This record gives sequence, C-alpha cells and structure tokens, in this order.
Amino acid sequence: MRRILLIDDDRLQFALTRAQFEQFRTEPFALDYATNYEDGLAQLLAGGHAACLLDYQLGPRDGLELIREAVARGCRTPIIFLTAETSENVDTAAMNAGALDYLVKGELNPAALERSLRYALKLGDTLEQLHRLATRDGLTGLLNRREFDRLLAEEVERARRFARPLALVLLDLDHFKQVNDTHGHPAGDAVLCAAAARLAAELRAVDRLARFGGEEFAALLVETTPSAALETAHRLVTAVRRESLALPDGTALPLTVSAGVAALPAHATEAAGLIRAADAALYAAKRAGRDRATLA
Ligand code: GH3
Ligand code: MG
Ligand code: MG
Repeated sequence: MRRILLIDDDRLQFALTRAQFEQFRTEPFALDYATNYEDGLAQLLAGGHAACLLDYQLGPRDGLELIREAVARGCRTPIIFLTAETSENVDTAAMNAGALDYLVKGELNPAALERSLRYALKLGDTLEQLHRLATRDGLTGLLNRREFDRLLAEEVERARRFARPLALVLLDLDHFKQVNDTHGHPAGDAVLCAAAARLAAELRAVDRLARFGGEEFAALLVETTPSAALETAHRLVTAVRRESLALPDGTALPLTVSAGVAALPAHATEAAGLIRAADAALYAAKRAGRDRATLA
C-alpha cells in the first residue's frame, strides 16, 4: 500500500484526514503523521512516501519554508499544500515553492482529496521519469555525465569548505574498440553494462558512479584519501577482471579496465584539475600495460 505523509501541527486534522482516507474509492493509502517542522522534514527526506499533505500554518517556520528546504535537499515527493483559508498569495507562493496542488481545509471532502492525491501521484511519477531521463545514462543506468559534473562541483565545494578529502577514479575499458570491431556493437553494449554492474557492486552507497564518456566511467569517492582511493581502484579493476563475459554466440570475452586516481587536496584544488590529474594517471596506467590502477 502506498504511504501518504500528513504534516500538520493540529492533531484533529490527522483524525479528520484518516476518516476521509477510509472513504476513498479507487485505492487505499496508509497515512503517516508528523506534527512539527523537524519531524516532517526528516520523514519527507527519508523518502518512502508517495505524496505529502503539508499544512501551511505549521508554526514559526511555516509549510512554505519546509517545501523550500525539502526541495533544496533533493526531495522529489509530490507535495500538496493545505491551508485554512483561500488566499491567492499563498496559492502562488506554494506553487512557486514547488507544491503540486493547493487545498483549502474547509472545502475538503473525501472525493476532492482523493482526486487531488491521484493527480499528484500521477504527476509525481511523470516527474520521477523525467528526472531519471535527465540524470541517468540510458544504456547502463549509471549517472550521466551532466549529473556527474553537477555532483562533482557540489562535492568539491563541500570538500573545500570543510577541508575534507575527496577522490576521483576515472576508468576506461581496455581494448574496447576491438570488442565492437570483432563481435559487433551489441556485444560492446553488453560489455558496457556488465562493467557498469561490476563497478557499482564494489562501491558504497555514498559514492557516485557515472558513465563519464563512451567506454569511460567515473567514481566519485567522498571522504576518501588518496591511498584509500587507490585501494578502491585496485578493487574495481579486480572486480571487472574477475569473470569473462559470456556472449550469446558462446564466446567468453575477458574484460579488463584501467584506472587513474586523483584526490583533493593532494593533486588538485578544483574540479577541472581533479579530472585532469585522474586522466593523466589513467593514461599512465594504459601505458604501463593496462588492467591496473595508478595514483596521480
Ligand atoms: P584502450 O585500451 O587504449 O582504451 O583502447 P580502446 O579500444 O578501449 O580505446 P578507444 O578509445 O580507441 O576506443 C573506444 C571505443 O568505444 C570507440 C567506440 O567505438 C566505442 N564506444 C563508445 N561508446 C560506445 C557505446 O555506447 N557502445 C558501444 N558498443 N561502443 C561504444
Ligand atoms: Mg576511451
Ligand atoms: Mg578504452
């Protein structure tokens, strides 16, 4: 059952909303409840809710502020705004802050609430698909280059502000052109997907893995020193090599990758410098015979 989160400091509203939920005709929803800003924000950011009903008059920090903070912190749960009275200003402000709909509590009945939720959920699904299309690589499902560049800029900023280490591993499949030339493009695509899955399986949830270019991958390792990053890069290289890939025609294709490692602040001071240093290290790994990781 899909879960809806209600954030409202008025406990009566919870009982009221739950009673209305019980009269829904198309789909039953589970209702979760938060009575203040902090708890609401925490539950919203934890994810798992298909939509959120958010009270405008929430206390000193109102619902508008909560939407803005949640959106700024990456929340994409569809939010429906609830207010006590009609006001065009609040309506416009809610929409601008990122709310999908706006409901006046006094005008609410089960049918209207259900309809609004259904529309918000549908729009939420569509937005999620759009977000996926905009941020993911279609073949491997990894982050795409654009999203990676955005995250890299963000993490470099954070690493510098808090004087924390940040490492980048650039990886490039070895002799990949040969796979395409000998076995065809579909085999090349299968190799890309297999390599992506093997790399992803080796990384922590906080690390970011992207398809950086055609047959190049990038792993962004937060809070990671150069030596720890090199160790991870060795692990990635080993994971890609571990098994050959079985092609539909029965060929067992050996897979290897080369990796270059660089870190902030040891090898660079900004994003472009970090990429340059990792790329130079990758080139060194290729020249040294491939199937290995090299530190800048
Ligand atoms: P090296 O070991 O030096 O990296 O050699 P390489 O053959 O891997 O390197 P090169 O850069 O010469 O070849 C990369 C090839 O990747 C060229 C291109 O045809 C192929 N490629 C790029 N993107 C895709 C893709 O999406 N699918 C497939 N099948 N091939 C791709
Ligand atoms: Mg290449
Ligand atoms: Mg290559």
